[in-house]
Amino acid sequence: MTNMSLFALLLATTTAGMTASAHEPVLRARTPIQFPDLPEYLTLKCDFHTHTVFSDGLVWPTVRSEEAWREGLDAIAITDHIEHQPHKADVTTNRNRSYEIASGLGSELDLIVIHGSEITRQMPPGHLNAIFITNSEALSVPEWKDAVAAAHVQGAFIFWNHPNYPGGRGEIWYPEHTELVERGLLRGIEVVNGRTYYPQAHRWAIEKHLTLMSNSDIHNALNLDYHVHDGDHRPVTLVFARARTAEAIHEALLDRRTAVYSGDRLIGDQTFLAPLFARSIHIVNPPVQIEGQEPHYVQVHNESDLDYLLERTEELATLQIPAKMTLPAHKTVLLEIKGRTGQSAGEQILSLPYRVTNLLVGPDEPLQTRLPLKVQFRSR
Ligand SMILES: [Zn+2]
Ligand SMILES: [Zn+2]
Repeated sequence: MTNMSLFALLLATTTAGMTASAHEPVLRARTPIQFPDLPEYLTLKCDFHTHTVFSDGLVWPTVRSEEAWREGLDAIAITDHIEHQPHKADVTTNRNRSYEIASGLGSELDLIVIHGSEITRQMPPGHLNAIFITNSEALSVPEWKDAVAAAHVQGAFIFWNHPNYPGGRGEIWYPEHTELVERGLLRGIEVVNGRTYYPQAHRWAIEKHLTLMSNSDIHNALNLDYHVHDGDHRPVTLVFARARTAEAIHEALLDRRTAVYSGDRLIGDQTFLAPLFARSIHIVNPPVQIEGQEPHYVQVHNESDLDYLLERTEELATLQIPAKMTLPAHKTVLLEIKGRTGQSAGEQILSLPYRVTNLLVGPDEPLQTRLPLKVQFRSR
């Protein structure tokens, strides 16, 4: 083929491709978020903080349901502001309507839609989300304490949103928060809101036994704020629930069985992150034969959506292992290992010591892990 005809062919192919894609309808498809279930619990993907045109959001409630379904979520809460209704000249001020509309499509799509509201006050106490409520209108009262009480009598799970806002002075824990926690009214805190991680909120959650939450607080159409078609995702609260139901999610939140999935990080208690990581990873090889200092390969597969970044925490006396490695999402990588001189022959079950730097069990504390590996040392 001449250069000219190759060029013509390329041009034709490219043009045909462009024409086709320009006219293809957008596929209304769901892409699952993939993390393994835990031994006793399902791993559900949830966003407990979203807005619609019924407060200061910019989309109709059904859009929230379809976005969440497409993004692979199991549950969302619709949490329009009680006190802030800037579109009231154009839409009804009935504070229950956004949930009612979103849950209609939600049930059709098998998406769990949770009835919520955002109690929107100055600091303290700032903005609080009350979810699993039955009537948002009852929260529309002058005193914030009465709004919290009205949510509580409805069985609400209440958490503190974006704890640095409003106020403009960073995150400050006020006596009002202590009182809410001591009275069992405040049970959770956003450690992530949008793209912001609050290490201080993470510390408070650990100290004060609050449930870790990670939510979008989305006001725009999702794909105006997140590059969802390029692998980006909204922040998600992973909930470890006994069943895929609203009741089981509520129970899990009360029992603090959550983790944060935000950007390229997971944040949560060791109890959940350790098995989540362990169950994501499969060591593919049969027992590896090690002979002298020749390099040998172990295949490690990561079936989760997240690239895991590992750093070795100590050297092994018997084996040379990489100082750093990445286990990319949905890929199998070769881990190069070598023996050491003077190693006696025989089978050993080793555990390779690593920290996973993008899995945080505390603000500055990565998850420590040990990859199990069976090796057969051969004499030479
Ligand atoms: Zn807010
Ligand atoms: Zn909000």
